[in-house]
Amino acid sequence: MRTHTALHILCGVIWSEFQIPVTGGNMDPGKGRLDFPFDAMSVELGQHVERRINEEIQKAREIVVQFLGRTEADLDESLIRTAANLIPREIDPLRVIDIVGLDRQADGGTHLANTADVGSVAVVGTESKGKGNKRIRIEVRDA
Ligand SMILES: [Zn+2]
Repeated sequence: MRTHTALHILCGVIWSEFQIPVTGGNMDPGKGRLDFPFDAMSVELGQHVERRINEEIQKAREIVVQFLGRTEADLDESLIRTAANLIPREIDPLRVIDIVGLDRQADGGTHLANTADVGSVAVVGTESKGKGNKRIRIEVRDA
């Protein structure tokens, strides 16, 4: 759950600063990665993202589950960016995970109740997986 929640925070940080969606991801116990359509990736960008994630953890943001009607969900740009538009129309309302003030996405998983419970996050790798596809690897650490 800590890793899963950390990936949501990563996703939210990238969306709030760059307005780009997630294109892929994977998760193992204690670590995970997400791919984004950046033109370029750098060590500096990785360090910046790590700093931003830990700021959001320290803000101790509340994480809540909401149920949102599809019509309303379709008007929310931050939901459209994720898998929400791939979920069959007959699923209505959508289950939405809201990291209050940072990130919302359609999601069926279980999460922590507060970002502070993640501990801390280290960006342990940045890679280019081709043009317009850059990978960020994170690990969850005790605070
Ligand atoms: Zn989730």
